[in-house]
Amino acid sequence: MAKVLCVLYDDPAAGYPTSYARDDLPRLEGYPGGQTLPTPKALDFTPGQLLGSVSGELGLRKFLESQGHQLVVTSDKDGAGSVFDRELPDAEIVISQPFWPAYLTAERFERAKELKLVVTAGIGSDHTDIDAAISHGVTVAEVTYSNSISVAEHVVMMILSQVRNYLPSYQTVLDGGWDIADCVARSYDVEGMHVGTVAAGRIGLAVLKRLKPFDVHLHYTDRHRLPAEVERELNLTFHEDAAAMVPHCDVVTVNAPLHPETEGLFGDSLISGMKRGAYLINTARARIADRDAIVRALESGRLAGYAGDVWFPQPAPAGHPWRTMPHHGMTPHISGSSLSAQARYSAGTREILESWFDGTPIRDEYLIVDGGKLAGTGAHSYSASR
Ligand code: NDP
Repeated sequence: MAKVLCVLYDDPAAGYPTSYARDDLPRLEGYPGGQTLPTPKALDFTPGQLLGSVSGELGLRKFLESQGHQLVVTSDKDGAGSVFDRELPDAEIVISQPFWPAYLTAERFERAKELKLVVTAGIGSDHTDIDAAISHGVTVAEVTYSNSISVAEHVVMMILSQVRNYLPSYQTVLDGGWDIADCVARSYDVEGMHVGTVAAGRIGLAVLKRLKPFDVHLHYTDRHRLPAEVERELNLTFHEDAAAMVPHCDVVTVNAPLHPETEGLFGDSLISGMKRGAYLINTARARIADRDAIVRALESGRLAGYAGDVWFPQPAPAGHPWRTMPHHGMTPHISGSSLSAQARYSAGTREILESWFDGTPIRDEYLIVDGGKLAGTGAHSYSASR
């Protein structure tokens, strides 16, 4: 019998929903490129329900308890004395979502003597100390592709909202105003702009594909180059690295994992190479950008706008400067946790758990660390620091 410790965000302030805005979710046949959707043996939830909050339990309780396992779910994750810290020492499996991450530090690994599997219900396992997982022989898995398109849609929304000055204009309506000149004095068309992505993996490529019909010039940089036919089809300009790409771009979107190579990438130096008035959209991870350099660039006008949904730490403290810096379009970390995405990553989490308990291999595409080294998707997209 395994103890499964699951950290999820709180239920809505008004309580767990009893009804939803829509009655169903569109049926998808698979992911772009042919990867199959999660294939658990069964589901104990209705797709479209809120699954990522404490009462949603990722739809796992019936499945786990029917097999004799113990499921502990909490949102209380930070600080000594948190429920997470108290429950961790005898947990075999820890599950959390990047939106409300259970930070599995090296110090917590030391205390988690029974820990064997860490699952990210979503994508991006940087809240887990990857080096510590490697040295403790703990398997790390995430539900690759589950919310990549969800994030790509959010990126496109944020690019349009920043360039067209949507949020201040909406605020004008809320305030009872009709100050058109104030709204449009910072409003542009995206058409004809140069848009570049740092990384063209699942999300980055989906962003490029979605932007093509806007008649923009598309740029990218990545550790591996895309196939020539994809470059041709999207009319992409490849750059060796971010420093070579950003001077050409009116809009830059960041879609790389946080790992030693990308941490702090958008600092004063790289930002100073961007066009004056460029927009930076970061839905990847907050620490890919230098927090204070972003504030300085918005205040000086080097950046015309910054938007994203990723912060450090999460939840962001009330005094986090990104809440109040000028010309930002930040949301809490929500892009990958739409009800649509929750259905996929909850099903994928169950698939991973079924494989674990059955002793069958976890899909290679879900693996980040296994057998004491980077594995599967992790070996392709991440780097360890030793
Ligand atoms: P993928 O693994 O499909 O793509 C990541 C890409 O980043 C790969 O193409 C990889 O290159 C590239 N890459 C890695 N390091 C570098 C680098 N130093 N410079 C340039 N490119 C680099 O992942 P996804 O597209 O699905 O997700 C990307 C990230 O987005 C996640 O790691 C996560 O942090 C974030 N995310 C955010 C979400 C949200 O809710 N805001 C939800 C989901 C993900 P290659 O493979 O060629 O080596």
